[in-house]
Amino acid sequence: MQTASPFIRENEQKAKGDQLHQEKTKTCVPGVFIAPAVSLTVVSPSADSRAIQNKMEGVPKDGEDAFPAGGGERSLTPALPSLRIILVGRSGSGKSATGNSILCQPQFESRLGAQSVTKKCQAATGSWNGRSVLVVDTAPIFDTEAQNPESYQDIGRCYLLSAPGPHVLLLVTQLGRFTAQDVAAARRVKEVFGAEAMRHVILLFTRREDLGGGSLRDFVATTDNLSLRSLVRECDGRCCAFDNRATGEGQRRQLEELMAAVKRLERARQRAFLSNHLFFEAQKLQRDGGGAREEVPEPYLAQVRAQVAKHRRDLEERERNPALRERNPALRALLGAKKWILLNTELCVCVVWCSLLILLILLIICYHV
Ligand code: GDP
Ligand code: MG
Repeated sequence: MQTASPFIRENEQKAKGDQLHQEKTKTCVPGVFIAPAVSLTVVSPSADSRAIQNKMEGVPKDGEDAFPAGGGERSLTPALPSLRIILVGRSGSGKSATGNSILCQPQFESRLGAQSVTKKCQAATGSWNGRSVLVVDTAPIFDTEAQNPESYQDIGRCYLLSAPGPHVLLLVTQLGRFTAQDVAAARRVKEVFGAEAMRHVILLFTRREDLGGGSLRDFVATTDNLSLRSLVRECDGRCCAFDNRATGEGQRRQLEELMAAVKRLERARQRAFLSNHLFFEAQKLQRDGGGAREEVPEPYLAQVRAQVAKHRRDLEERERNPALRERNPALRALLGAKKWILLNTELCVCVVWCSLLILLILLIICYHV
């Protein structure tokens, strides 16, 4: 008998897990309703073409995902679009623990270890106020020392699990311990998902208990860690904090804060999720059954390698050219012009002299006429 692949198993478990979860999450989120798993399925060509149009940012229409997670199937019964969250950040920052807090149950293995305890990207589903929530926990793909050919398998798996694309990338870091590894992890997020990904990042600080009675807003505003300040700016100030050891009311309250931040982000992005060529291909692969294997198929892996290399080149280009980093279009144009002038100083001097000369000639002509 053929054994089910992890992707198939996870999708099947989602349906079973949803029923189970309906019981379990009642204590965490009162009034939770879990929609039944996809009942009647159709593959929609219009959804297909829509997704091609919205390659860079998936824009859901009609209150549904263009491509709901789980293999290009759409439920005919209208349902709230599922919320997809990917946990990113360096090993040991508390990603798995945060995933468990979001789902209100221990779905991911989380403990202190010399090396990452999470060996493979995994997905689990829960719900929040009637909305299905898919959480993808990641293997150490964001650690500099863990970058090897194997990481492309993990990256491919992460893409397959979160297709058609995440609404939120939760960048997890420990409160008061923002190190060079965290800076490298944030950079790696851009390499893996593209620089656009920062538009979907919420910074989540674990060990909220270390704040004591203080507020996160004050902590972030007064930190002397310049790298952290810069990252907070890059995320447009979207951050929140979790004490992953909290239970009951404390756990519910911090989850509410996160979901409020998610809501604000979705409103700002007009409910668009992060999408790119790889998410699109991952969705196609799942639909054709190619994503349902233990190993990520080689052709897709080759695309992952090429796309990550492209993201890296783009990132280096942005680092060399500050104009590309600027979000304000007027400032971007100004910085671009400044760079061009610096690169073409001689030509600019020549143009200025010629203009002055022409102006002088025109003045003389006007004076004598
Ligand atoms: P990951 O490698 O990023 O997935 O990190 P883990 O989820 O495995 O967490 C690493 C360690 O940090 C574990 O021992 C967790 O119990 C601990 N941890 C995570 N979040 C918190 C938190 O909010 N408070 C405290 N005190 N410990 C935490
Ligand atoms: Mg982990």
